[in-house]
Amino acid sequence: MASIRSVLVLGAGVFGLTAALELANRGYFVTVADPGPIPHPKAASNDVSRMVRMDYGGDGLYSSLSAEAIEGWHRWNAQWARELYHEDGFLLLTSVPMAPGEFEQDSYSLLTSRGFSLEKLTPGELPRRAPQWDSGYYIDGYFNPRAGWAEAGAVTAQLLEEVSDSGVEIITGFSAVELLQQGNKVCGAVAADGARLWADWVVVAAGVWTTLLVPELADRMWPVGQPIFYFKPPDPENYRPPLFPPWGADIPRSGWYGFPANSDGVVKMANHGPGIRVHPDVERVIQGDEESVCRAFLSRSLPGLARLPVHESKLCLYSDTWDGDFWIDRDPEREGLMVATGGSGHAFKFTPVLGGLVADALEGIENPYSKRFAWRALGEVKHEEIRYTGE
Ligand SMILES: Cc1cc2nc3c(=O)[nH]c(=O)nc-3n(C[C@H](O)[C@H](O)[C@H](O)COP(=O)(O)OP(=O)(O)OC[C@H]3O[C@@H](n4cnc5c(N)ncnc54)[C@H](O)[C@@H]3O)c2cc1C
Repeated sequence: MASIRSVLVLGAGVFGLTAALELANRGYFVTVADPGPIPHPKAASNDVSRMVRMDYGGDGLYSSLSAEAIEGWHRWNAQWARELYHEDGFLLLTSVPMAPGEFEQDSYSLLTSRGFSLEKLTPGELPRRAPQWDSGYYIDGYFNPRAGWAEAGAVTAQLLEEVSDSGVEIITGFSAVELLQQGNKVCGAVAADGARLWADWVVVAAGVWTTLLVPELADRMWPVGQPIFYFKPPDPENYRPPLFPPWGADIPRSGWYGFPANSDGVVKMANHGPGIRVHPDVERVIQGDEESVCRAFLSRSLPGLARLPVHESKLCLYSDTWDGDFWIDRDPEREGLMVATGGSGHAFKFTPVLGGLVADALEGIENPYSKRFAWRALGEVKHEEIRYTGE
């Protein structure tokens, strides 16, 4: 689309920063505006860790995209002063035998059929392989060595540096309150203090705040609060790989997943469940009985952590779409507007490939993923159902 020259990106999380970087590389004049500081303390892209894995049940499309992303993480590790992606693997445990139609078996079947070497747990192996886990409760599972975790906040800070080095203008202190429009064309944004920024195209990449700027999407995406807990065991060395890699424990039934102890000896775990719908500016504290739910999980799973005081906890917000798929497309109704968000609790791992997806959508270039992430009505499926069929 040769006529697009300037692009204003609203939001400097991983969607916005990678979009800015890729668009600058493709020759656009790009401005990124964010309330700041970047990484923003409340941004989803700002935390100590995010899981990186290709294990997506039978969903071949996300699995392929993730395989591409992992190659990207390795490229970045080679380029950056310090490695921010740690390929410690991913241990999936189940309290029931793995079975077709379930997340773990489908992931295992798909990935092994694609040539990845996964290590199926043999009966009785868990106490030796991962002694912190209750081996009376967890009886099955596998280990995927091609997975790990990324230092989310540090990655976002690194991307900011790269965006800045690529000639993109970065404006902090700009909290957009409204999009500027001429006729049916979006042409900029106005901030709370009245400041205005103009551009040929506006990419709204404001995470959970997106629907404040594009309210017509509020029936299709919404912020959902999820609890995160941090514990500081007295024996952090026992919570580090290879004995304690990133993990998911009974994921489809419990939602719990977590990470090895970080350099401060802090073990983090979080729940990927239905969560609770909240306002984007809700106080980021855990609610209701979430701590007791976490402790019940720990008692049956990781007894060494179950009685420790909570070192820290917080509510973290997913930008959930109605179908769990990302939202990366131009508004079919209004010229000049594009939305890139809807991470639905799983987009960080794709950071190395997100910018390309956004830039392709802006330029109207179809790729294998564009239909899945297209602008869609509630209930509308534009892509072919992509389910693993056992190829
Ligand atoms: C608890 C939790 C755990 C997760 N775990 C994982 C995981 O293990 N693996 C994984 O792959 N993914 C995970 N995710 C998902 C992933 O972190 C997100 O999908 C991703 O970081 C979203 O990035 P974003 O750029 O859309 O949003 P954000 O990072 O939230 O960035 C949005 C930006 O928009 C800015 N902004 C807000 N309002 C305005 C405005 N009015 N004008 C301009 N700018 C504005 C904000 O300041 C912010 O910088 C998790 C998410 C959460 C919340």
